[in-house]
Amino acid sequence: MDLELTEDQLDLQRRAREFVDTDVLPHYRSWPVTVAEYSPELVATLKERQKDLGLTNLIVPKEYGGQGLGAMEDALVLAEFSRSPRRIPGTIFAPWPVMYDAADPIKEKYLYPVLEGKTGWSMCFTEPGAGSDLAGIKTTAVRKGDHWVINGRKMWRTGHQGASYTAVAAVTDASKGARGISIFLVDNDTPGFEKARDIPVLSRTWGIEEEVALDNVVVPAENLLGEEGGGFQIAQHQFNRFRLRLGGLALGMSERSQQLAVDYARSREVFGGKLGDNQAIQWMLTDNHYDIESIRWNTYYAAWMVDRGGYSAARVQASMVKAYCIDAGLRVVDRSMQVLGGRGLAIEDYPFGDFYAQLRMCKQMEGSTEIMKIVMARDILGKKF
Ligand SMILES: Cc1cc2nc3c(=O)[nH]c(=O)nc-3n(C[C@H](O)[C@H](O)[C@H](O)COP(=O)(O)OP(=O)(O)OC[C@H]3O[C@@H](n4cnc5c(N)ncnc54)[C@H](O)[C@@H]3O)c2cc1C
Repeated sequence: MDLELTEDQLDLQRRAREFVDTDVLPHYRSWPVTVAEYSPELVATLKERQKDLGLTNLIVPKEYGGQGLGAMEDALVLAEFSRSPRRIPGTIFAPWPVMYDAADPIKEKYLYPVLEGKTGWSMCFTEPGAGSDLAGIKTTAVRKGDHWVINGRKMWRTGHQGASYTAVAAVTDASKGARGISIFLVDNDTPGFEKARDIPVLSRTWGIEEEVALDNVVVPAENLLGEEGGGFQIAQHQFNRFRLRLGGLALGMSERSQQLAVDYARSREVFGGKLGDNQAIQWMLTDNHYDIESIRWNTYYAAWMVDRGGYSAARVQASMVKAYCIDAGLRVVDRSMQVLGGRGLAIEDYPFGDFYAQLRMCKQMEGSTEIMKIVMARDILGKKF
């Protein structure tokens, strides 16, 4: 395994850093907190700059106009972008791989507009009665001629404000458990597909989460994504990608927190010396360093595995990235806040509060820490030592 980044990867990382240092960090305080509330002009400017710097559609295959890059490049750019406490439009919601295999009319309607940055999509998997246990969902989809009729209730839809459609998981064959779940692409303006309520959470950065009702929602038969009964597998595959990407997120937030803590420790005068002269502070910075390097190498290793063998091959490692890196990132942000004393809590001046809230939410999203540990434990117990 080669531990050095290639020249191209270093160049990509440098361009992403330049973008964040020049176009984001000096300006983000004047932006709305929630990405969906950014003005169209701001979104267009940010996307244009990313395009100029070659930072768009990184992991989109070349035949679809993307750069065809791998999980490593994706992680490097996400880490740079995550040094900003505000979200940068266009980075998080890459299309699902299964969309590239869809029929042409589906690609026209749902894939290309996302690739062109004209719209986004959201997901409705979780329900009031089933979250970690996706196989326990109760929303049903019943085939009637050339369409499906979906009924049920969903929780936690995120990012709907910037999206024109939602991937909805529903039971198509209750006798088959996890193999009886399918995913449908549902236009957000379909009659019967309604927001039931907002669910304000710790951080509003990604949008307002929502509970959603589906009341006789009619969806054309061709909007079934992948195979009937293949929804659980599609979801698992997609979650592996999300989980790995959260490693990049934790890395960027941790590195920025450490940078601010080190700057403060070097410059702050206390008791006739520098704050950083005190061992208690040095140890916090050292502990941060352990955590940051562990986040980095866990994430890079998982990305390396994906780039060699695909997302399924890195399933357990992606779970480890998700469980470990989010917790380690929370520790780094918390320690850095402490190094800065009262200033660490000033949410307009410093990003720690935003980082903390986002990382804390990530502990629950895309498979909670406990569920990730279950995936790892099954692998550990099944291994020969
Ligand atoms: C901010 C945010 C955004 C989200 N966005 C979306 C979205 O866009 N679309 C979507 O579909 N969902 C979304 N979710 C839902 C998220 O995926 C679920 O919250 C998650 O899967 C956990 O489900 P739950 O909340 O129902 O917890 P539960 O399944 O009720 O679990 C409760 C707690 O018990 C733990 N637990 C569960 N089973 C076990 C076990 N066997 N052993 C040990 N511990 C266990 C869990 O880790 C959890 O901490 C979002 C959640 C949040 C908080």
